[in-house]
Amino acid sequence: MANHEIVMQRAVPVHDAADVIVVGGGPAGTAAAIGAARCGRKTVLLEHTGQLGGMGTLGNVSVFMGVGNVTGIYREIISEFLPNSLPGSHHESAIAPQYSPFELRHYLNGKLEKEGVQVYYHVSFVSAIMEQSRVTGVIANTREGLRAFEGRVVIDCTGDARVAVDAGVPTRSGRDEDGLTQPMTLMFMMQDTGKPVRQYLPEDCDRYEKVEQLPQGRNLHWSMMDNGTLLVNMTRVKGNGARIEDINYAEKEALRQVFSVVNYLQRTSHPNHILSHVAGQVGVRETNQIIGRYTLTEEDLTSGRRFADVVAQTNYEIDIHSPTGDANTDERKLDGYDIPYRCMLPADVNGLIVAGRSISATHVAMSSMRVQATCYALGQAAGIAAAIAIETDVPPADISIAQLHSLMARQGVLFAR
Ligand SMILES: Cc1cc2nc3c(=O)[nH]c(=O)nc-3n(C[C@H](O)[C@H](O)[C@H](O)COP(=O)(O)OP(=O)(O)OC[C@H]3O[C@@H](n4cnc5c(N)ncnc54)[C@H](O)[C@@H]3O)c2cc1C
Repeated sequence: MANHEIVMQRAVPVHDAADVIVVGGGPAGTAAAIGAARCGRKTVLLEHTGQLGGMGTLGNVSVFMGVGNVTGIYREIISEFLPNSLPGSHHESAIAPQYSPFELRHYLNGKLEKEGVQVYYHVSFVSAIMEQSRVTGVIANTREGLRAFEGRVVIDCTGDARVAVDAGVPTRSGRDEDGLTQPMTLMFMMQDTGKPVRQYLPEDCDRYEKVEQLPQGRNLHWSMMDNGTLLVNMTRVKGNGARIEDINYAEKEALRQVFSVVNYLQRTSHPNHILSHVAGQVGVRETNQIIGRYTLTEEDLTSGRRFADVVAQTNYEIDIHSPTGDANTDERKLDGYDIPYRCMLPADVNGLIVAGRSISATHVAMSSMRVQATCYALGQAAGIAAAIAIETDVPPADISIAQLHSLMARQGVLFAR
């Protein structure tokens, strides 16, 4: 690998300007954009791929894990998109509905359009535009080359804290002892054809004979929506998805595992199922966490800690797929806890809020807060916070929490106590 640097300096046309620029259109980014737009702010969302929903669509996740507080935009999404799964009250906790990632992708396109959010697809963040320690926009790679997008507040929802890293916000990754992150998984689907199918095992794949030989050492699949579709979460590749070499290895190794697992399932339990869909990219659970004004810890989760500046709540378990890539998963039930606003705020960089799985949290704490519903909740809070910062002309760190809670309530967010 080369070890020298090239200095780049060039003029970049400004393509758009908005009050709020959201980078990344996963659960956090879509909710952040809706939250800000509903406060009357011109909002632009930049998404690297051709679809919204992040891991939930692109990674083929297809299940909303239960969080114990079905509220805000997440509740609205359930009510519109999966009305049969809508619980009567916001704190009926057990729902973990499955969904079609293709239908969610379509739903989110329409939802953001209705909310008046300008979504730019195939636009990848490249660099933060800074005035001293304040982020004032981003440079992005578009289908027409580099373009600038100016904003009064930028919300980093890339999952990898890409904007924050570029703006100089300190980050950490993985376990305290060795920095290892949760492994990656390429999700796929199989379809029941009603008759035995041709089995295909490419030469470089593994012929598993026993369940213990599988990458996760277990069968982890669900029959979906009574339509003969099997959702399969059975590949596992060690590595950090925000690193060039790790993701390069993971994309090839995970696909090799897909064909190996498919062949195993066809031989053992699903002789009539064909491989019908493979996610467009390997699913990434954990990469960079910002070091923010507060870092959520395991103790906060296990003690059920409550915070005055709460912005999201969950009782989803500690759920750590083994970072060494071996077949274990650490799963521990929780009663419920709060996530404070300060976890989304860098200490020394202004004009930037970080929402979604890359907030300030330890490896153990992020294993619980990373699920989609929580990321929607954090995103919605970030969008509203950005709007308040603009309206009151203060940095996001100095907004009134009372005002934040009041506007969140107006957007349907209820907290369980
Ligand atoms: C294999 C797997 C299984 C999972 N199972 C479940 C489950 O069953 N239930 C559940 O609720 N959760 C599950 N999760 C967790 C959940 O899907 C994610 O943690 C959640 O989607 C994170 O949301 P996010 O918005 O923070 O980030 P992401 O979903 O990662 O979205 C980030 C978005 O930012 C975009 N982006 C990234 N870089 C750039 C850039 N430079 N420029 C522009 N855009 C960019 C990406 O394309 C993406 O759209 C699973 C995750 C994985 C990987």
